[in-house]
Amino acid sequence: MIRPARAIEAIPETTPFIGPEQLMRETGQRMLVRLGANESAFGPSPKALEAMTSELPRLAWYGDPESLDLRDALAAKHSCAPGRIVVGSGIDDLMGLAVRAFVAPGDVALATRGTYPTFAYHVVGYGGRLLEVAYRADGTPDCDALLAAARRDKPRIVYLANPDNPSGRFIERAAIASFYEALPHDALLLLDEAYADFVDEARLLPSTFEDRLIRLRTFSKAYGMAGARIGYALSTERNVRTFQKIRLHYGINRNAQVGALASLHDDEFRSYVVEETARARDDYYKLARALGRGCIESQTNFVCIEMETPQRALAVMNELLSRGVWIRKPGAPPLDSYVRVSAGTEPMRAAFAEALRRVLAEVA
Ligand SMILES: *Cc1c(COP(=O)(O)O)cnc(C)c1O
Repeated sequence: MIRPARAIEAIPETTPFIGPEQLMRETGQRMLVRLGANESAFGPSPKALEAMTSELPRLAWYGDPESLDLRDALAAKHSCAPGRIVVGSGIDDLMGLAVRAFVAPGDVALATRGTYPTFAYHVVGYGGRLLEVAYRADGTPDCDALLAAARRDKPRIVYLANPDNPSGRFIERAAIASFYEALPHDALLLLDEAYADFVDEARLLPSTFEDRLIRLRTFSKAYGMAGARIGYALSTERNVRTFQKIRLHYGINRNAQVGALASLHDDEFRSYVVEETARARDDYYKLARALGRGCIESQTNFVCIEMETPQRALAVMNELLSRGVWIRKPGAPPLDSYVRVSAGTEPMRAAFAEALRRVLAEVA
């Protein structure tokens, strides 16, 4: 009998994300207003599209396995050596490499219960022991609780998303810096900054290159290239060499490399996306207020709107889906009584607002 390795057999079958394509197949819908995965409604930069289009005929060639042109440009952006950067096929890929590199089977890893799920997915997949602490009552990741757990349980990796998904909350520079300093120095902080591009640089943790810090960035959100699958990690040359040992050398799509590079040279587009996203958040805040609901101030491209109970949030999400509007709902308290909606274009926001008004009138 053919069986997978015992460690793999022991992994529970889970699907961290049910995609909108699957939901469309299940519900028989032919079109969805896609506001569920924090994809950019503003698309990729026109410069990226142009570069990728003209690169396409060379699809027969592998990409540069070192992604050196892109790493050079990223090094300039982050004022560091290219040797401190490793490119992966998105943060999800890099997170897997970090767990594989630093968490041996049985080792402890620490995260916030209900935060972005891929870290936990990899920890379980590599046989680590995942410990979780709750969010604060206001939906902010609880640095004090993480710190106390880190001191007590000796994790190899502490995962923190800042800004956080699904809450949208942001922990300011000084607080993150003192959290990082206070962590036991044999724990690695895996700082997921997928939404850093929506925050002023001056509010982010300053550039710090130490073995116990890995920062993750992506072209999936502000740069609007989620489908191209490309992101990067910033850390020390030593950690980057560790990643080099285990990463998939031709794992980066050639077209994604070219598009990412072109996007980095399109500041105008990035500013446009950041401004449009802020406008979308404001619209959602206003909508929530008009409907007499709370919402969480967000530093990302999505907003959580309060629905009172988890059951009601679930019902609202499902009702919206049946009307062709796809959003998501956080899974753990205190955010599980909220729905999370991504920043859309104006017509998408209008469609969401209209559908939500109707649904709330029904799901009373
Ligand atoms: C969207 C998201 C990711 C995924 O990034 P990819 O580069 O597309 O893999 C990672 N972390 C957080 C917090 C996210 O919201």
